[in-house]
Amino acid sequence: MAGKINLTDELKKYFGFDKFKGNQEAIIHNLLDGGDTFVLMPTGGGKSLCYQLPSLLMEGTAIVISPLIALMKNQVDAMRNFSEEDGIAHFINSSLNKGAIDQVRSDILAGKTKLLYVAPESLTKEENVEFLRSVKISFYAVDEAHCISEWGHDFRPEYRRIRPIINEIGKAPLIALTATATPKVQHDIQKNLGMVDAQVFKSSFNRPNLYYEVRAKTSNIDRDIIKFIKNNSEKSGIIYCLSRKKVEELAEILQANGINARPYHAGMDSVTRTKNQDDFLMEKVEVIVATIAFGMGIDKPDVRFVIHYDIPKSLEGYYQETGRAGRDGGEGQCITFYTNKDLQKLEKFMQGKPVAEQEIGKQLLLETAAYAESSVCRRKTLLHYFGEEYTEENCGNCDNCLNPKKQVEAQELLCTVIEAIIAVKENFKADYIIDILQGKETSEIQAHLHEDLEVFGSGMGEEDKTWNAVIRQALIAGYLSKDVENYGLLKVTEEGHKFLKKPKSFKITEDNDFEETEEEVPARGGGSCAVDPALYSMLKDLRKKLSKKLEVPPYVIFQDPSL
Ligand code: ADP
Ligand code: MG
Ligand code: ZN
Repeated sequence: MAGKINLTDELKKYFGFDKFKGNQEAIIHNLLDGGDTFVLMPTGGGKSLCYQLPSLLMEGTAIVISPLIALMKNQVDAMRNFSEEDGIAHFINSSLNKGAIDQVRSDILAGKTKLLYVAPESLTKEENVEFLRSVKISFYAVDEAHCISEWGHDFRPEYRRIRPIINEIGKAPLIALTATATPKVQHDIQKNLGMVDAQVFKSSFNRPNLYYEVRAKTSNIDRDIIKFIKNNSEKSGIIYCLSRKKVEELAEILQANGINARPYHAGMDSVTRTKNQDDFLMEKVEVIVATIAFGMGIDKPDVRFVIHYDIPKSLEGYYQETGRAGRDGGEGQCITFYTNKDLQKLEKFMQGKPVAEQEIGKQLLLETAAYAESSVCRRKTLLHYFGEEYTEENCGNCDNCLNPKKQVEAQELLCTVIEAIIAVKENFKADYIIDILQGKETSEIQAHLHEDLEVFGSGMGEEDKTWNAVIRQALIAGYLSKDVENYGLLKVTEEGHKFLKKPKSFKITEDNDFEETEEEVPARGGGSCAVDPALYSMLKDLRKKLSKKLEVPPYVIFQDPSL
């Protein structure tokens, strides 16, 4: 059947587009031919169409499993715009009442519905499973499939129940789609969905129009951000913060400084939250200050900057969040503020969580830190993380390519690291290797080592920081690798063995200005003043309380004429 129809005509007929983007056509052919299909495509690449179009061409109803209610509603509305028939697309989730569900069911049974969006929670409900067993299913689509993996940036345990439920409802081809492409996540998804033999379609994740920059986060961060926004006036931007409290605080600071900004986080009442989001989409406000709750599935093409106030929890998340800039192909500045202190703070937050979760969290954070501190092209590092090699010498659109950092020779240090990894039979993670080099007899090390090691203590002349830099940069350069299954164990690659036999130049970035504390003591007029942080914090609270009564802004207004 698939060979006969001209897909481009169908695309034009149903969606009004003249041609397919990227791999869309090949993907759709594969699905129409009845094959399991795995799609790795960056945000904005056009994944939805990969199941929407075939659903219209195939017999029966396609089941689309999607994580967010808001996202589902948008997609159903969009599908209805392409069709005369409202019943063409429906969703089932916890927001529907009994009457609405009956309507959905009768449309499906009448054969009107080509696409049914369900949340995984609803899919697994007994009554829905029972009903769907009586329906002719054209295929199953699992959108945002990374939710299956604990290594993804948005793990949802319900997603792991999809495969068994599909087996209960009835067999049909399966298409899984995600913008997450780390090899680990990809592996998890295929394994968990039982589709290891699926045809994989992977697009390039490079976003040439995005400019990446990492700045040191200092006590002047608020000023830096205000200055940046004022230099980019009338442009839309998103500022991501990790905590809800920071979101509200920063939005207020920006407002007090004449910037049209609004907060957005999951703890706000839904009316205000939705209004703030809509105002941003409708260009009534320029800047949204948000937690990562903001943005999934939001299609605003002209976001011109994305600022990370805090270090993102993973490179994956960072890529997704920065990916919301420049979706129209135009300018997109991605500025991240980074300090080592944030890293330590986040690691502390993880204490008390289950051990496995902690390990994953730490590993992901370390990778983000490595990215932030690296002097390697940002694009190269990001793409490498997604298993893609970027071979240009200079991307021309990141801070490290435009302003190369000072580097020092670390050839001997790398040889020491490689020797240590080989000596412990490639059975240790980076931090243990460093402990070994530093001669630290931790309990893990004692438990693992049965013989005397020559490398033990051989690296005491350098700080942990330096060893970390050597290891992280050797990973990026491909001399070392991490075991994917046993995430984190350091291995020496073939290149690494060659390096040891015949060492060549290996440079690392030494200057590290990411150590400054983040004492938020903003000063009036731009100069800095020494204030005891405890006192400052007390004054700040007081000012906040009084501000309502006195009708003065609760925050400092910067009066620097350059702002
Ligand atoms: P993703 O889910 O991969 O992030 P979407 O499915 O939301 O991406 O699509 C992103 C945008 O691209 C949407 O506005 C969609 O209408 C548009 N789009 C998809 N396919 C095409 C195409 N073949 N031609 C033009 N625009 C397309
Ligand atoms: Mg999508
Ligand atoms: Zn670059």
